[in-house]
Amino acid sequence: MNDDRGESCNTNSPCPTAEQAITLQEWTSLLFVLDPEATAERVTRGDYPCPDSDCSGHVGPWGTARTRPVRLLGGGIDWLTPRRGRCRHCDRSHVFVPVRAFPRRTDSVETVWKALAAAAHGQGHRPIAHQLGLPPSTVRGWLRRARANAEIIANRANIIRIDVDLSAAASHQRFDTPLATMVHMVGAATAAWKRRFWFPTPTSGPDYTPRQVASLLTGGWLLIANVPASAQFWRPG
Ligand SMILES: [Zn+2]
Repeated sequence: MNDDRGESCNTNSPCPTAEQAITLQEWTSLLFVLDPEATAERVTRGDYPCPDSDCSGHVGPWGTARTRPVRLLGGGIDWLTPRRGRCRHCDRSHVFVPVRAFPRRTDSVETVWKALAAAAHGQGHRPIAHQLGLPPSTVRGWLRRARANAEIIANRANIIRIDVDLSAAASHQRFDTPLATMVHMVGAATAAWKRRFWFPTPTSGPDYTPRQVASLLTGGWLLIANVPASAQFWRPG
């Protein structure tokens, strides 16, 4: 893959590996977490319920997944080592994926959402790629996948918005394109979630960007092929 942001890659900070496909079976074992440290503490305490609705067990620590680089918006590399967990009752294993990255995607959620927002405003993939300093093929791939998933993600984002903001109107706004509708609906769900759950201050815990919250709410499904109707998005509790 050509990469015209080569100035961020050197011996000490090698270029990220090529993006790889991921199967739905693998995907269902991924858990998107806003605060990996707080999640790790819960897992260590045995206070993290198994995400399988048929299991009453709790997830315990089970090492880490491999370390990989995430290319940051504006340059630089974030090295990511997701923790793993295994249910002590059903033995199913999971990887806790911090919401700042998409699994097996080279670029951060900040970069991807910025590209989607620009496309929702009518920009094509080539100018977006130029602005981000990325190959056009990379941005085109994100846009194709996000457009294919736009309707299901918009619908689920609207459900989340109504779930977390009981005073919210139930209507589902439509914009010029399904992608624009999806970006708007995810933004509205994120704003509703922030109003209800977000208490970031310099002393109360980590701060999160709206794009990270958006990835939490959409369960990381944004760039996955053939999102199933049974896909788990964010749920209260
Ligand atoms: Zn279990």
